[in-house]
Amino acid sequence: MRSHLLNDATAEQYRRSVTEGVERVASRLASTRRPFTGVTPDELAPLVSAVDLDRPLGDASAALDELEQVYLRDAVYFHHPRYLGHLNCPVVIPAVLGEAVLSAVNSSLDTWDQSAGGTLIERKLIDWTTGRIGLGPAADGVFTSGGTQSNLQALLLAREEAKTDDLAKLRVFSSECSHFSVQKSAKLLGLPPQSVIAIPTDRDKRMQSVALAAELELCAAQGLTPMAIVATAGTTDFGSIDPLPEIAELAAQYGAWMHVDAAYGCGLLASPTRRHLLDGIERADSVTVDYHKSFFQPVSSSAVLVRDGATLRHATYHADYLNPRRTVEERIPNQVDKSLQTTRRFDALKLWMTLRVMGADGVGELFDEVCDLASAGWDVLAADPRYDVVVQPSLSTLVFRYIPAAVTSPAEIDRANLHARKALFASGEAVVAGTKVDGRQYLKFTLLNPETTVHDITAVLDLIAGHAEQYLGENLVHAS
Ligand SMILES: *Cc1c(COP(=O)(O)O)cnc(C)c1O
Repeated sequence: MRSHLLNDATAEQYRRSVTEGVERVASRLASTRRPFTGVTPDELAPLVSAVDLDRPLGDASAALDELEQVYLRDAVYFHHPRYLGHLNCPVVIPAVLGEAVLSAVNSSLDTWDQSAGGTLIERKLIDWTTGRIGLGPAADGVFTSGGTQSNLQALLLAREEAKTDDLAKLRVFSSECSHFSVQKSAKLLGLPPQSVIAIPTDRDKRMQSVALAAELELCAAQGLTPMAIVATAGTTDFGSIDPLPEIAELAAQYGAWMHVDAAYGCGLLASPTRRHLLDGIERADSVTVDYHKSFFQPVSSSAVLVRDGATLRHATYHADYLNPRRTVEERIPNQVDKSLQTTRRFDALKLWMTLRVMGADGVGELFDEVCDLASAGWDVLAADPRYDVVVQPSLSTLVFRYIPAAVTSPAEIDRANLHARKALFASGEAVVAGTKVDGRQYLKFTLLNPETTVHDITAVLDLIAGHAEQYLGENLVHAS
């Protein structure tokens, strides 16, 4: 069994084995005609169940043959131009190359003595990112597993900086369109359910700063502590960007920690033409970025950045077996001192390879392309009488719904849209997402693939209309 260990003696087998895996994926990529096969859980589950994990196949080719059946054949492929579902991006090749390198070398970024150069590369990318944000000379941060973890860590720092033991008195303000990880984090941090105040949004789904000001005033009047204001720079559903300068003003006025959740909008940091949409982000105390959303990186690749690096001490613990206190005096850089994780992937290498091969403008131009596509898509939807479209996109999301020509009930329209989404998914021809707006069922395109064209958008709109019409037609037949 030693032949399966990666080492000097097996270098050739490593090369062959990984190359074979790459070949399989490459031929899938080249031959995929739809983003999805439409397979159902009931169809796929027996194939996975039938695998006997206690009877290994012994060689990589056989395992890959099996993998074709249980995974590769029916996977949802994000590189396909008609995958318009969630916030998943097609990935850039330099990042995939980085991924292959980092898992083979398997550095762990908790301590210098497990990662050497990796620590420095991660630190340089953190500095690059804080520089792009404009957080100033004391800024710092660390890579995380994703936006959820970044938000949790930011709010941990905010809670500690609020300097009160009375958790019941803490309040967190975020828009009604903010990500649910804000509430999850509050719960994990021991805050009561009423601690997260949802601020209403305007027509464009941006936090209303007047409403925020009123809530902050109420908080002060009640003797409560405004722990944090979470501004979202790119809401998950609409891509809307909260008014960052106004929020920064209010955060300063009320002494609240300002966190900017730019999990989605962070791609603007590299955009040659749209960076100004993030103006005001430089005033944040902390920022979440998900490179695995708008920097075209494979999952996971995310970071939390802070204005004052010293605040990261709230996540610092020393262990004799890992990062003893003396290592601080010896100035040994141990990233675990800044992280919620211990053993941690060298995800930073993917972004490093991306910037070294393509450069920041290269990534930013890709994000610009999908934002331009969303604008064009909005024009198409606004001109199409079959559709109602909400919120002109700031980033790359379109939220809309099918409206039948014939009068029918709002509930029936909801069901027709839900049906259309499910039928489309079952056909595998395209994948779209869904959400609710003012209680009604809407559909959503999250455009993160520069290969998607306006023609793809119109073709998918025709498919959706076809499914919705079929549903309504059938229901008419049933009713009569
Ligand atoms: C996706 C998203 C998150 C969560 O990030 P994960 O990487 O999925 O954990 C947080 N906030 C916003 C605005 C997001 O869009």
